[in-house]
Amino acid sequence: MDPFRNEATLDFSLARNAGSLEESLSAILAGVPEDRLLVIGGERLSTGRWIESRDPGEPDRILGRAACAGTPEVERAVAAADATFRSWSRTLPSRRAEVLFRAAALLREQRFDLDSLLMLEAGKVRQEADAEFAEAVDFLEFYGREMLRYAGGQPLVRIHGERNSLQYIPLGAGAVIAPWNFPLAILAGMSAAAIVAGNTVVVKPSNETPLIAYRLLEILEEAGLPPGVFNYLPGKGSEIGDPLVQHPRIRFISFTGSKEVGLRINQLGAGTSTGQIWIKRVVAEMGGKDAIIVDAECDLDAAVEGVVASAFGYQGQKCSACSRAIGVGPVYDELVSRVARRAAELRVGSVRHRETQVGPVISEAARRGILKFIEVGRREGRLVAGGGPAPAAPDRATGAPAGYFIEPTVFADVSPTARIAQEEIFGPVLAMCRARDFDEALQIANGTPYGLTGAVYSLNREHLDRAGAEFHVGNLYLNRKCTGALVGAHPFGGFNMSGTDSKAGGKDYLLLFLQAKVVAERET
Ligand code: NAP
Repeated sequence: MDPFRNEATLDFSLARNAGSLEESLSAILAGVPEDRLLVIGGERLSTGRWIESRDPGEPDRILGRAACAGTPEVERAVAAADATFRSWSRTLPSRRAEVLFRAAALLREQRFDLDSLLMLEAGKVRQEADAEFAEAVDFLEFYGREMLRYAGGQPLVRIHGERNSLQYIPLGAGAVIAPWNFPLAILAGMSAAAIVAGNTVVVKPSNETPLIAYRLLEILEEAGLPPGVFNYLPGKGSEIGDPLVQHPRIRFISFTGSKEVGLRINQLGAGTSTGQIWIKRVVAEMGGKDAIIVDAECDLDAAVEGVVASAFGYQGQKCSACSRAIGVGPVYDELVSRVARRAAELRVGSVRHRETQVGPVISEAARRGILKFIEVGRREGRLVAGGGPAPAAPDRATGAPAGYFIEPTVFADVSPTARIAQEEIFGPVLAMCRARDFDEALQIANGTPYGLTGAVYSLNREHLDRAGAEFHVGNLYLNRKCTGALVGAHPFGGFNMSGTDSKAGGKDYLLLFLQAKVVAERET
């Protein structure tokens, strides 16, 4: 087996890549929107209720519909996952890993289609879509190899007269509850890790992105995953979330999403329902309020680019996005004016246009929420870029009304305790704070309940070392942007209210879905 290597991303300035992408986009847009049914124990089921998936750049366009599950389907899906656990948990780890490797190969074959679907359903520009595609492939390749490693057990101290062994075994049937912002990569990572470890899962994708989740299911089926291992259960989180999390046969919950929902799941998951015979394991990866410190001595060009890319890449809708930039002493004023200028230059528009850098936010509810925060920001800071919806120009290609676009927005002179410097906005809004010195910058950076990512731009070795020790985040970057974690290279997960620090894409991750069994036999 080759050692793991990160999947390279595509260069869309090459005509052949740009051409293939255009073909896939056109094919999806010309096709008839399809209905996706629930998939429970391999059976396709309708419920008569539907979730519509719309293009956030052109909300009139319905991309497809997914059946909407209710409580009876939760029961059915958990029963199917529970029943299938008996056979899947006994399937050889090497065979389980094989399914992931085959799925990775199938993903590669469908690259342009998947990129297109990510662009249309999640509103990603092409480079962001392809980076997500590559991350999904990486998770499959990485966790497959990791399972082969864990299958070797763990060497134990030898005791005279005994033969001892430790082997890792799976937990049971689990719930995988995923967000919309990495609807392919995060869903693939969370479910593949659980599955390859020998568990079965009930997968609840986000309401915003059920179609891409269905594509993942189809790929896993084609790769040879037996029915009942991955049960596809789109539905409203507010309706089916609690019964799923509280179900006595659910052994673990793997969640990625907001702090509010994560804390609720953590609390409910700690309870025990009638008939439950275990303590549920909860893995909850949640939000961030990530900061970049720009030190007095630094490469300011690199810092400005890093802040702008981290704050406005995918419209600021990454848990790792920079939502606070902290300028130290004399660098602050120039940092503000340069970041504001670069933000104002970013091209906002349909992700179908090659030159677009900032696409739509995911939904009308998100748009409204972000615009409310911008109003709060007007009272809490000095607006230096953006500040409202991006012009609602009709789409150039189709003439349809434009979607949920918001201008990249920057507020300067924000107090570190202001709401826009404390609460996750999850949109293209950056708060900039002034720090007297590096000590104060660290204090501001650490001064929220979150602790996911952070970055420091500095030429001062001592400051970089201090950040390494004192900047309390799960993923710290020095002299580079705070987004773009790579599987294997940057195991990902946050501290404090950012979650359980599961370190997705790292060598500890699979352990979260395994338990260790020790057998000690007296030698005769
Ligand atoms: P969200 O609103 O918390 O939703 C996440 C998932 O939970 C969705 O599938 C949602 O379903 C479901 N859900 C909603 N209410 C539920 C309930 N009561 N019980 C069980 N499940 C429920 O988050 P989001 O808006 O999709 O994603 C954005 C958030 O995710 C941000 O806070 C971001 O920082 C965080 N995030 C964190 C990481 C990380 O690695 N730390 C990575 C990506 C995103 P519906 O779609 O039906 O509401």
